[in-house]
Amino acid sequence: MQTQRILIIEDEKPIADLLAYGLKQEGFIAYQAQSGADGLELCREVQPDLLLLDWMLPDCSGTDLCRMITQEYNIPIIMLTARSHIEDKVHGLEAGADDYITKPFDLREVLVRIRTILRRVNRAAVSNGDWISCGDLRISATEMTVMRGQTPIDLTPREFQLLLYLIEHPNQVFTRTLLLEQIWDYSYAGDTRTVDIHIQRLRKKCGLARQIQTVFGVGYKYVPSA
Ligand code: CA
Repeated sequence: MQTQRILIIEDEKPIADLLAYGLKQEGFIAYQAQSGADGLELCREVQPDLLLLDWMLPDCSGTDLCRMITQEYNIPIIMLTARSHIEDKVHGLEAGADDYITKPFDLREVLVRIRTILRRVNRAAVSNGDWISCGDLRISATEMTVMRGQTPIDLTPREFQLLLYLIEHPNQVFTRTLLLEQIWDYSYAGDTRTVDIHIQRLRKKCGLARQIQTVFGVGYKYVPSA
């Protein structure tokens, strides 16, 4: 497999260097940018497989940059944040981030999360190429694409995985914790709001407000249209 490229956009040099060091040890190619403008340019240039993005940059906010990048590319994004308030995490996820890491972080944990996300993206890319029909949507696991008619619907990798998981298990009720474990691969110490945000985005983007149902006090289920 081709060596995977990770772009680190982080203005705190020691943190960026630590991440780059860890990534190189693991066999990745690491690129660094210290500002949003440089990061965006480098992103266009190297087309990274994954982005580590700091929350607070000198020239822009990480969430603004996250929004800009997800509009243009389908790259998984992990936000790095020094803040631990849930509101900040929520904003990052709303801006299209797939995951977030609170500083100070454990380098090993960062690497595990990166591998997890990349593994899921790759797995989706090699699985069965048939299109799955879901109401007026068509979904391709191979191409990680959702189409309504001729129009592609823009989903982040994580949103796509969640949608596919729900659709592959129709009428089954999942707790938020179980979805966190299945889609995010590890437990977020009770931070189930992450699931709620992704569900809201899926309903809105895919027009599945009726199909993706809230089961009060339990979680969610996908009910195919009759
Ligand atoms: Ca910073």
